[in-house]
Amino acid sequence: MVLAELGGRITRAIQQMNNVTIIDEKALNDCLNEITRALLQSDVSFPLVKEMQTNIKKIVNLDDLAAGHNKRLIIEQAIFNELCRMLDPGKPAFAPKKAKPSVVMFVGLQGAGKTTTCTKYAYYHQKKGYKTALVCADTFRAGAFDQLKQNATKAKIPFYGSYTESDPVKIAAEGVDRFKKEKCDLIIVDTSGRHKQEASLFEEMRQVAEATEPDLVIFVMDSSIGQAAFDQAQAFKQTVSVGAVIITKMDGHAKGGGALSAVAATKSPVIFIGTGEHMDEFELFDVKPFVSRLLG
Ligand code: GDP
Repeated sequence: MVLAELGGRITRAIQQMNNVTIIDEKALNDCLNEITRALLQSDVSFPLVKEMQTNIKKIVNLDDLAAGHNKRLIIEQAIFNELCRMLDPGKPAFAPKKAKPSVVMFVGLQGAGKTTTCTKYAYYHQKKGYKTALVCADTFRAGAFDQLKQNATKAKIPFYGSYTESDPVKIAAEGVDRFKKEKCDLIIVDTSGRHKQEASLFEEMRQVAEATEPDLVIFVMDSSIGQAAFDQAQAFKQTVSVGAVIITKMDGHAKGGGALSAVAATKSPVIFIGTGEHMDEFELFDVKPFVSRLLG
């Protein structure tokens, strides 16, 4: 189910309550059950959906609401707040500052959009006046360095990598070191991914993190991975201290659920979404406008 469709179904479930004379327990349950179905079909993990339902029922106590209260509005507000709460882990992500070198490491499965997103993130900050640089510590995927080099050159961003060195930890450490000496504000490290969540990938990520001491680790997730989102995000979080999430390919048949599950699994906020293959198809993520837009 695409994101707009999810929003439409939630909105329709709320509107259904206009068609009943009294909003009683049954009307509320019908509405919540429809929202539950819509969320599950959008790949939000089951425990999260269950928790949301319980919370809304706790907030909307129909017996305590005196006659004359606009119950539909109260329920609608509770649903809005719950969706916002699910997307907001309560603490903002680390934000790089100018004139102080920050290291940001990108992790995620192969094909998630890491390399593309690294450049988008660098380009976004470069436009804001940051002195950015890119380090390619992906020695696993043939062509990864060329891809980063090509993107970086197009955006006029300094880069570091090697065609011959096979140790990603060494490249990452050297690159970060060089750009710190060059007084860059924001040093972005692209790491390797694998098709699956293999032990070797996690060990490599752990070592790169140890060598570069990132101020922020960003987990990049493809929005179309479905119900696997929660477990995948959690596996990354357990290995490196993920502090933010970027969801890619929101322009395609994107499901909203992946974002909700990734936030829950990593206890980190979504900071940007990728909306296309191009450098500037990248949007800042803000919870309330996102949920408002979702609910139309
Ligand atoms: P990596 O293996 O994680 O480094 O993934 P890449 O950066 O190579 O991206 C894999 C594919 O996804 C490439 O074809 C990218 O152009 C594409 N891609 C990345 N982000 C987006 C996005 O936001 N929207 C779309 N439509 N494609 C994207």
